[in-house]
Amino acid sequence: MRVGQSRGGEGAGQDRREEQGAAAAAVRGSEVGGSERARHRKSGFDPGWMEDPRFKPWLYNIANHGMFCRLCRQHKQAPKRGVSTRPFIEVGCMLFRSDYLDKHAATRHHQESVKAHAALIQAVIGGFKCLYHLTKKEHAHHTNYADLLELAELLGCQYFEKLKIGRTNYTSHRIIDEMLEILGTVVEEPILANISASVAIGLEVDETTDVSVKKQLDVHVRYMDKNGLLYSQFLDLVTVSDGRADTIVKAIRTILTKKNIPTQRIYGLGTDGAAVMTGMNYQQKQG
Ligand SMILES: [Zn+2]
Repeated sequence: MRVGQSRGGEGAGQDRREEQGAAAAAVRGSEVGGSERARHRKSGFDPGWMEDPRFKPWLYNIANHGMFCRLCRQHKQAPKRGVSTRPFIEVGCMLFRSDYLDKHAATRHHQESVKAHAALIQAVIGGFKCLYHLTKKEHAHHTNYADLLELAELLGCQYFEKLKIGRTNYTSHRIIDEMLEILGTVVEEPILANISASVAIGLEVDETTDVSVKKQLDVHVRYMDKNGLLYSQFLDLVTVSDGRADTIVKAIRTILTKKNIPTQRIYGLGTDGAAVMTGMNYQQKQG
């Protein structure tokens, strides 16, 4: 999802002065006296700063371009009159000193960016929670997501404004589908781990046809947890180009590989008994 820019706050003037000062110092880097210049040349970017909790959330370095602030660049407040080359934001800071990093972190601009980022994260998490709620309750998510966010805003939850990607966009089908894919991966991980740990696995494959008359394979898996309890779990629904046995085998192989299902522990196959399915069973065992 794309994020918008946050507005400038008060004190930006002070920020600009601080940053102008740092910019001037960065430019002066090439004019400083002999011994100091040698010290700067020798120092360079310290990779240890990337692990320092003070700098880790925002700092990155581009070889020959200097150090930048991820947060200030993402939540960039438009530079006002005359300042368009702020170090860490528009231009890299070439003075590789930790006190310059501290100085940047203390600027009003950076503090505002940190706040804007925290609000954005909160909004993204809120958006995911709303979508998760809809899917868990099996409500039609594409049609109800916008309404649910609207209700949340009506009840005083203002942070969705921070998404700032427009009502027509942040509830668009494409974004909802992307979010669902992410949610699916997170929810699926522990289930797949349980399936992998099962001593025996059974597959249930059904061929269906969707509204546009495309053939689809609906794959479920049966497995046992460490307490001996049996579960039946939906694994995937994939569109296949035709109903031939080798097409179906290929599709199932792809699913099993993608989901890391240990094929050597698949002992059973449940189908409606169609010839292509029972034939597939034979081929699968051979493979
Ligand atoms: Zn910053």
